[in-house]
Amino acid sequence: MKDSAKNNDIVLTGQYLGVVEEYLPDKQSTYVKEGQIFATKTGIVKIDKNRRAIEILSHQEENRKTIKIGDVIIGTIRFLRLYSVGISFATINKKIHFNSSYFGNIHVSHISRRFIEKISDAFQITDIVRAKVIRQEENEYSLSTSGNDLGVIHADCSICGTTLEKIGQDRLRCSRCGNVENRKLANDYGNVTESLRY
Ligand SMILES: [Zn+2]
Repeated sequence: MKDSAKNNDIVLTGQYLGVVEEYLPDKQSTYVKEGQIFATKTGIVKIDKNRRAIEILSHQEENRKTIKIGDVIIGTIRFLRLYSVGISFATINKKIHFNSSYFGNIHVSHISRRFIEKISDAFQITDIVRAKVIRQEENEYSLSTSGNDLGVIHADCSICGTTLEKIGQDRLRCSRCGNVENRKLANDYGNVTESLRY
């Protein structure tokens, strides 16, 4: 008799998982043939202990499920809206995730403890930010940069592209063209220990 799959096993498409007397098969990620359950995709086995339900999660889905409230992400600002910004994640808790399919939003009320009137006074597209996960809905995460250690950790001049230098609280200056810009800065801006090359 073949061995049944166990929780967190990595299985391949078509691999035997067990029998229907043993597990309740998930319709999307498994199929049943003559009472035997097989994987319809490659991924990680998840078995619900109470229901005995078995399903296969892709690595991406598995990673997504492991993002928790309070986790710290580093990501790049992709767009500015009137009341929020969109961020694609590069790292989660300092682990690098090269496939940047994780996405989050910072609402204007969660940017800073100070009042932010315009989003563009806090972030610009291509800024790299450190933010905290405060809420999850489906595949989108709500983030916050409120707090000294959170906010922009790298920003380029919007005129000439040179890396901006900090000249005061939430103020940056371009040493090349003299342009001055505002951001919601993390307190270690210009002195960040994480690698910013992704
Ligand atoms: Zn410049």
